Amino acid sequence: MAECELCGKRAETTVEIEGAKVSVCYKCAGERPKPAEERKPFKRMPRMPEELEQAVVENFSSLVKAKRENMRLTQKEFSGKIMENENVIKRIEEGWIPPFETVKKFERFLKMKLIEKSPAVQLKRSKQERITIGDVVEIK
Ligand SMILES: [Zn+2]
Repeated sequence: MAECELCGKRAETTVEIEGAKVSVCYKCAGERPKPAEERKPFKRMPRMPEELEQAVVENFSSLVKAKRENMRLTQKEFSGKIMENENVIKRIEEGWIPPFETVKKFERFLKMKLIEKSPAVQLKRSKQERITIGDVVEIK
């Protein structure tokens, strides 16, 4: 019994590739056989389902501060309510961005959207169109 010339398994049928009869298995017969030099040694890893990049909102610090002041809480009182170190609140209001887990905690506590999701794929830059001004020749 011949072997499939494409994958080495038991050949079950023959197909014609570029005029030559080749023994192949049914699986390979169903796939369009490629010339050896076109076959890639490694299969590409399937891409992850569209990954989303998470980013803390730009005005995180001021949002937290405004919300705290709105609740009429001192940094200490506020830190007690959200179960964080007072120093964390201080640093955040000074512009420090804490780890996502902490930001998420603030999100839940303040009922505010503090993390944005944006596709990791960068927006394609539009091609700059070149404007060619051809010489205009007037024939009189
Ligand atoms: Zn095969």
